[in-house]
Amino acid sequence: MDCPKCPGTLEPKTYGRKITVHRCNECGGLLCKPETLLEMKREWMSEAVLDAGDPRLGKALDQLDDIKCPECSTVMDKTSDERQTHIWYESCPSCGNLFFDAGEFTDLKYDTLMDRLRGLVRGRRPAS
Ligand SMILES: [Zn+2]
Ligand SMILES: [Zn+2]
Repeated sequence: MDCPKCPGTLEPKTYGRKITVHRCNECGGLLCKPETLLEMKREWMSEAVLDAGDPRLGKALDQLDDIKCPECSTVMDKTSDERQTHIWYESCPSCGNLFFDAGEFTDLKYDTLMDRLRGLVRGRRPAS
């Protein structure tokens, strides 16, 4: 598949047994399905292996709008994460594909992890 944001090619990458994403060999953008994203958030270190692109390049490409889904050619929607509104990624209204610029998944995952840790700390505090 062709990368929606640059002249690169999306190549399949796997991590563990359940995770398969497509990563651009030029800009490091990641294409995945929502259910794969859930697995990626759960899987320890998945970001270090899968999100290996240059975040500075990702930031520059984040400015690109109106990209088309590489799988079904539908114009993708810009979506911000419901809990981390500074993170914008593309989602396909037709087939559900998600596209993250390089560095975005790491950002998403790191904050998710921090939220969870904060939740744990809060959970241990005795009720007052
Ligand atoms: Zn690319
Ligand atoms: Zn699509």
